[in-house]
Amino acid sequence: MEALLEKIIKDCAPYKTLGRPASYIPELANGDINDLGIYVTCSDGQSFMAGDALKPFTIQSIVKPILLLLCLMDNGPDLVRDKIGVEATGKPFDAINVTEGSLSSSHLNPMVNMGAILMCTMIKGRDSGERFSRLLELTRLLADNPSVELDQKVYLSEKQTGSKNRALAYLLKTYGMIDGDVEEILDCYFKACSIKVTCKDLANIAFTFANRGRHPLSDKRLFPAEYAHFVNAVLVTCGMYDGSGDFAVKVGVPAKSGVGGGIMAVSPTKMGIGIFSPGLDSKGNSIAGIKVLEQLSKEMYLSIF
Ligand code: GLN
Repeated sequence: MEALLEKIIKDCAPYKTLGRPASYIPELANGDINDLGIYVTCSDGQSFMAGDALKPFTIQSIVKPILLLLCLMDNGPDLVRDKIGVEATGKPFDAINVTEGSLSSSHLNPMVNMGAILMCTMIKGRDSGERFSRLLELTRLLADNPSVELDQKVYLSEKQTGSKNRALAYLLKTYGMIDGDVEEILDCYFKACSIKVTCKDLANIAFTFANRGRHPLSDKRLFPAEYAHFVNAVLVTCGMYDGSGDFAVKVGVPAKSGVGGGIMAVSPTKMGIGIFSPGLDSKGNSIAGIKVLEQLSKEMYLSIF
């Protein structure tokens, strides 16, 4: 397996420089497009890695499945479906998705920014700070890594420049879908996106979803299996945004991308996969990262379809 991962990383190296790091969050523009790494956590307890698998980067939108899980744990699936919906938007992550002067849950999805901002108000906590702390704790638990922390520089960079997310949050407020202070709500969202992880952390987190809610090493139940089915289904339909259909055909597993260059992929019952390569396509998905997953899926027959 180690040799296979090394080979895939080598084969996919030419794709690293086809994309560009996200620059709309200034701090992310410093990403090194030469980075490419993979970490795999398998159901037999073994793990394997190649390339820059232990280099930290910010989780960005890969926090959305964790946020969705916490939202399900705090509110149950019925309320989550009612408020945020589960239909794929087929649109970019930051799309202003409103029709005929109205906004409803059918325009949202837990994997796009509007849905995630709304989820930041649905998780339990006295204030935005406590909500974020609970999300960070859950991330540490799933990653099996108590030292997962916030990247202060990326957080401040995103907070200073996030006008599009402010626009999305004010739209939610206009249509009565969120209450309270927009800046405070966004503070939780910006911090959530700025959690620092490695491919190893993402592989472990993915494995809990692959293993239907059980911890990768201890096999202890962390959350109900039903919530893993919920999250995995939403990942298949919208985890790669308007690239989800293409990804389903090419790779065929539930996955989530982030503009930090990460991809978390879930191979149900088999493995959790974490990938990192900051060169992005126009949809905000890692180009070399998708190529690596495409090759791994072919070699190991991972497609669920
Ligand atoms: N923090 C980013 C944003 O809100 C997350 C987007 C992403 O990773 N696709 O714009």
